[in-house]
Amino acid sequence: MPLKEYREKRDFKRSPEPRGEERPGARRRTKGRTRFFCVQKHLATQLHYDFRLEHNGVLLSWAVPKGPSLDSSVKRLAMHVEDHPIDYGTFEGVIPEGYGAGIVMLWDHGTWEPQVDDIDAAIEKGDLKFTLDGYKLKGSWVLVRTRGTPGGGGAGGPAPSQSWLLIKHRDDWSGPLDISTFAPNSVKSGGGFRDILSQEAPDVWLSNRGNSSSASIQTLRRLIERVEKLEPLTEPEEATEKQTPGTTRSARTSTPQRKARKP
Ligand code: MN
Repeated sequence: MPLKEYREKRDFKRSPEPRGEERPGARRRTKGRTRFFCVQKHLATQLHYDFRLEHNGVLLSWAVPKGPSLDSSVKRLAMHVEDHPIDYGTFEGVIPEGYGAGIVMLWDHGTWEPQVDDIDAAIEKGDLKFTLDGYKLKGSWVLVRTRGTPGGGGAGGPAPSQSWLLIKHRDDWSGPLDISTFAPNSVKSGGGFRDILSQEAPDVWLSNRGNSSSASIQTLRRLIERVEKLEPLTEPEEATEKQTPGTTRSARTSTPQRKARKP
């Protein structure tokens, strides 16, 4: 049961994440049609990017702390995590508490093609070459498992390492562009974390006050603070101000944030 670990970690009465349906025919249906991939930008305890490849009815998943890089000389750490349901691939929203509490943004999606004959064997071996056809990520990539921690194994030999590297191959789609900064927003809703949060929790977002001490309200308040740091508001009239030396700092750090909190 590939989604067992996914479900055990989550309380679906408290999380808006999809429980995921079993798809008994998925293994066969994968053949001859395109495979889905997505990257979800996840503002949790730490900001990271969840890289997911559809395979055998689930999404194989890696958490990439710094996100994918288009620079072929850059190797990005990618921690192999539990399989996610296919439905998760369109999920975007606020997880108010519990496992993964924070904001999930659908940062990229599209299709992927393995560049190997046997995906399972490639995963087992720790070397999966593939191509992506998304909005932001395209071309040839590889996920390669790093060697296990020395001395980390038991009598049966070292357990396979959970840490992999996500690397872009040199091609027409590689280059020095910092894609996470250049294209920070959602491919689903078009906006940033700020927009997802304000849609999901408008009351807390707008007032940022109230007497509730529930865990989720506390989490939301902390999220608001983090989003305001990560995605500072810039307003059209300040774009001209910014060209005048000396006004940039005050315009960016005080005014927009206070405006955003007004009910
Ligand atoms: Mn995550």
